[in-house]
Amino acid sequence: MAKYDLVIIGSGPGGYVAAIRASQWGLKTAVVEKDPFLGGTCLHVGCIPTKVFLHHADLYDNFKRAEEFGFEVKGLKVNWPSMLARKDKIVKKHAGGIAALFKKNKVESITGSWGRIAGPGRVAVEKDGKVSELETTYTMLATGSEARSLPGVEIDGNTILTNREILLLESIPKSLVVVGSGAVGVEFASIFRTFGAEVTILEMLPRVVPLEDEDISAELAKAFQKKGIRIQLESVVESVNKDAQGATITYKDRTGKSASIAAEKVLIAVGRRPLIDNIGIENTKAKLERGFVHTDAYSETAEPRLYAIGDIVAGLPQLAHAASMEGIIAVGRMAGKDVQPFDRKRCPNATYCEPQIGSIGLTEKQAREAGFEVKTGKFPFLANSKASILGQHEGFIKVVAEAKYGELLGVHAIGPLATEIIAEPTSALGLEATLDDMAATVHAHPTVWEAMGDAFNSVRGLTINY
Ligand SMILES: Cc1cc2nc3c(=O)[nH]c(=O)nc-3n(C[C@H](O)[C@H](O)[C@H](O)COP(=O)(O)OP(=O)(O)OC[C@H]3O[C@@H](n4cnc5c(N)ncnc54)[C@H](O)[C@@H]3O)c2cc1C
Repeated sequence: MAKYDLVIIGSGPGGYVAAIRASQWGLKTAVVEKDPFLGGTCLHVGCIPTKVFLHHADLYDNFKRAEEFGFEVKGLKVNWPSMLARKDKIVKKHAGGIAALFKKNKVESITGSWGRIAGPGRVAVEKDGKVSELETTYTMLATGSEARSLPGVEIDGNTILTNREILLLESIPKSLVVVGSGAVGVEFASIFRTFGAEVTILEMLPRVVPLEDEDISAELAKAFQKKGIRIQLESVVESVNKDAQGATITYKDRTGKSASIAAEKVLIAVGRRPLIDNIGIENTKAKLERGFVHTDAYSETAEPRLYAIGDIVAGLPQLAHAASMEGIIAVGRMAGKDVQPFDRKRCPNATYCEPQIGSIGLTEKQAREAGFEVKTGKFPFLANSKASILGQHEGFIKVVAEAKYGELLGVHAIGPLATEIIAEPTSALGLEATLDDMAATVHAHPTVWEAMGDAFNSVRGLTINY
């Protein structure tokens, strides 16, 4: 029987990153992956393909404004098949990149194989009906998640879609209803609206991107409505029925009345369920919390030497970078390194719709509910010179700070490069920085990032540019 220090089941951003770091720390590591390729949801049907399309949508938006930028562009057309081809090329390149990194780092890759816990220190690997076993000191579950549907709504992959099938559409639909306005829902709404689809978002809660600060939700709703995206809030979908034109979605609107809307395609984006069926977890001491795996701050389950990371973990934001960081910390722990536990409050959120959203830490409401005396400041991109150069003036940065000592509690940005400039407050919160520290930080000019400096100063009414 092959013997390892660590066997990881799943090669998404949790599993593959953990494997490389484990190898760097000297652990003999194997990764079992059911798909014939490496990279998981993030690379194949999540972060990367959606960001390719969002970048293309951004370019298209700019081309449409060519005259404003001093260009004459004639005959501008969207070539959807070549966009699909570019997306596939990028995904393939990066899947090959992970395989090359595994080789370089001597991580054994066992693809096209279903992994399952066979007992303490044993992982069963099933390929083409044949089962073999690996012996291992540590086991890590990194099996990820898949899209949930709604009760009674069957995903047929042709009209009623999840993030998987929508990425394979052969043409841009005339109309699209997006059920759910979390990150996945608003990103696809943004992409397809830019390329000309009539888009309607149905959201059960009273605001879009409901996990973000309330001001961010309001700003995104305003920007989306300006683009022509219809938003129906407090709308509960009751049924989705296919017909010759596509589907009819029936929902209860905010007044409690039944309403319906027809669309060529429907995207169900109502959250993701952990993939933990048939992986042998039921025969271990690991505890579940509403279907997710409960772990300690270092990702160990209640079963000794069994770790779980990423989208299957209870209470963890379902984000690629959260999965990766958990993996890095967990293998550091296995290798006896001095690692800090994962601080879930210090994990940035990034949503790449147009306008983008980047956020970290507490929202204003959460800060007040946590008992802080709160002071906030806001700086609009309207007053940032690089935003003028880019021609992207929408949005603002909102800073939430503790009133007396100026401790940074949260930063919420919506607008140009928001997913990039959130890097600064992410480090700042990690280092427990105060408004004084941030006010003393030099921000390069002219940058979009510079707006962050103004935003920190805005809490004390000391903004220069607004
Ligand atoms: C449309 C979309 C866009 C997204 N965009 C972003 C983004 O921009 N930024 C971001 O941070 N996050 C984004 N996410 C979330 C991100 O994709 C996930 O948080 C991340 O992929 C989770 O990583 P993971 O390693 O836990 O699982 P996954 O990436 O899901 O990987 C799990 C792997 O395990 C394999 N597996 C499962 N069961 C078994 C088994 N029994 N045996 C062998 N292999 C198995 C699967 O085949 C898969 O390869 C997005 C998600 C979606 C759906």
